[in-house]
Amino acid sequence: MRGVDNEQLGLFAPPKRLFTCTPSKLGSYEDCPRRYRFTYVDRPAPPKGPPWAHNSLGASVHTALRSWYALDPARRERSALPALLKATWVTEGYRDDAQEREVFRRALGWLESYVDGLDPHDEPVGVERTVAARTDTLALSGRVDRIDQRDGELVIVDYKTGRSGLTPDDARGSRALALYAIAASRVFRKPCHRVELHHLPTGTVAAHDHTDDSLARHLRRAEATAADITAADAALAAGTPADEAFPVAPGPQCSWCDYRRSCPAGVDAAPKDPWTAVDRPPAV
Ligand code: SF4
Repeated sequence: MRGVDNEQLGLFAPPKRLFTCTPSKLGSYEDCPRRYRFTYVDRPAPPKGPPWAHNSLGASVHTALRSWYALDPARRERSALPALLKATWVTEGYRDDAQEREVFRRALGWLESYVDGLDPHDEPVGVERTVAARTDTLALSGRVDRIDQRDGELVIVDYKTGRSGLTPDDARGSRALALYAIAASRVFRKPCHRVELHHLPTGTVAAHDHTDDSLARHLRRAEATAADITAADAALAAGTPADEAFPVAPGPQCSWCDYRRSCPAGVDAAPKDPWTAVDRPPAV
């Protein structure tokens, strides 16, 4: 029969459902499946803790750099930065006004040093640009801080504002950067192998040049994580208790987890103040 033939040929097979994700969604599951569940599965989600000052600082600096590139090249000067940073400043999480003012000055200093090293006439291929790619199992997307073009290839640039410096191993091991490189390459139809972490507090760049094989390995691991998440979702839907389908992964990260207060595995972790990560160590 004709219908049977078509079925045998796979013509009526339902299309495979792709797992829609960003690198941070995959990373959230890899860090702690329960935190993933709280963030992406449970509705309503458990209440989060208060906002973190380090997130406010990171967002402020990222947006100021986006605004800097939005200026006409002739106006991309150091002197433009105070107004740009002020306009994008996120105030949440600081201990008090004095700390917030001190961190603002610190961030402004980072930005001034950073733009001193930039050619204002360089136009990146993308600034806070969303890129996307599909594989057999993934519909992947993410927003890249900056995409440069050098020597005919794209370069992924990710700004960092955390306290600790970064190494080439951090750039090599970053799943997010590798997935951005794959997606940017597909969107712009240009090769992309180099990924860079620009650490503004120290003015250093940690870089790695991927090969096609190392990018493919990152992609395979991302697909494996997506398969694990799909299996956990299916187990939950089939009646497996939520804490079994999405087990905890307690560790030092619990101190910084937004859901620490809703998670019995995290309540014993040393609590951090919302401003701890931006606090300057006392001078000696
Ligand atoms: S507190 Fe720790 S174990 Fe609990 S969800 Fe957060 S990261 Fe996971």
